[in-house]
Amino acid sequence: MSKRDYYDVLGVEKGASKDEVKKAYRKLARQYHPDVNKDPGAEDKFKEAKEAYEVLSDEQKRAQYDQFGHAGAAGGQGFGGFGGAGDFGGFGDIFDMFFGGGGRSRDPNAPRQGADLQYQVNLEFEDAVFGKELDINIPREEECDTCNGSGAKPGTKPETCTHCHGSGQLNQEQNTPFGRVVNRRACPYCGGKGQIVKEKCSTCHGDGRVKKSRKIHISIPAGIDEGQQIRVAGKGEDGINGGPPGDLYVVISVRPHDYFEREGDHIYCELPLTITQAALGDEVEVPTVHGKVKLKVPAGTQSGKTFRLRGKGVANVRGRGQGDQHIQVRVITPTKLTDRQKELLREFNEIGGNGSTEEQDTNFFQRFKKAFKGD
Ligand SMILES: [Zn+2]
Ligand SMILES: [Zn+2]
Repeated sequence: MSKRDYYDVLGVEKGASKDEVKKAYRKLARQYHPDVNKDPGAEDKFKEAKEAYEVLSDEQKRAQYDQFGHAGAAGGQGFGGFGGAGDFGGFGDIFDMFFGGGGRSRDPNAPRQGADLQYQVNLEFEDAVFGKELDINIPREEECDTCNGSGAKPGTKPETCTHCHGSGQLNQEQNTPFGRVVNRRACPYCGGKGQIVKEKCSTCHGDGRVKKSRKIHISIPAGIDEGQQIRVAGKGEDGINGGPPGDLYVVISVRPHDYFEREGDHIYCELPLTITQAALGDEVEVPTVHGKVKLKVPAGTQSGKTFRLRGKGVANVRGRGQGDQHIQVRVITPTKLTDRQKELLREFNEIGGNGSTEEQDTNFFQRFKKAFKGD
């Protein structure tokens, strides 16, 4: 089957202008696009028209075609590679460009949701435990009040860009060793907006949007933890072209505490005890986030022993109970001893004061001694 002449396919004169070529193609596309025409043969007609349009709408290819016919347009690399072999994605793009339809419309003037924003809040340890009400100032883009987002000076209107015809996109074709590649890029004349503002709004300088700092109140729930986020619906950036606003995500960061550590809903801390406190037992006051608590340290408490204060941890952020506080004992060995103290300790040792209990002998010390066997 011989190929029809591209000018014949589109039904235009040899000297037809770019606009005439486009118009002719549009007409055929409307008639034969596979989305609208289910007749057998319509698809082939559409492909044929599309191929013709791709060549005749491109100055360089058109010149080649005029000079060498189909062989010239094919340019050595499979021209059918694009749009030739049932490339429906390609159909869709062209279709969108002309008719602005389809679910994945790239119409720059279509309503779009505003961007989500993220904001980090640094909390004190206790604020995370008990929650906090606070006002934060969010820098965000908002629609310019002066021009209602159009970017045009009040009383004027933005004009449709003549280069991209309002689509905000231009197709750029490139010959590569792998065939012809069509790149879509933002129209440089209108910056991808599809519209050109001749007289700019003086408030936003034509952007249609201004940076503002907006005070937003947030309630931080008790029990929130490092790295968690709070979503504040609708408090992101304003929507574009009447679209809905984005959301604000408040990311929580918690400053470390001098004394407490937190893991989930539990709080951990160390309790320093003197040798005598540990050996003789004592009643000590232990700090918790809920206030001081008296703790009975039994006589003979070992370093490393942990006590649990039930319910003295963090309330679960989702309301699932309450964590505990875990206290780990650390027995502090005295370092600066006077002669008298040393003397007493030696005497203490001589009278068997360091003798541990039977149980300890058979456990810890035995295992310790075993470790040196075979030396
Ligand atoms: Zn403005
Ligand atoms: Zn443009």
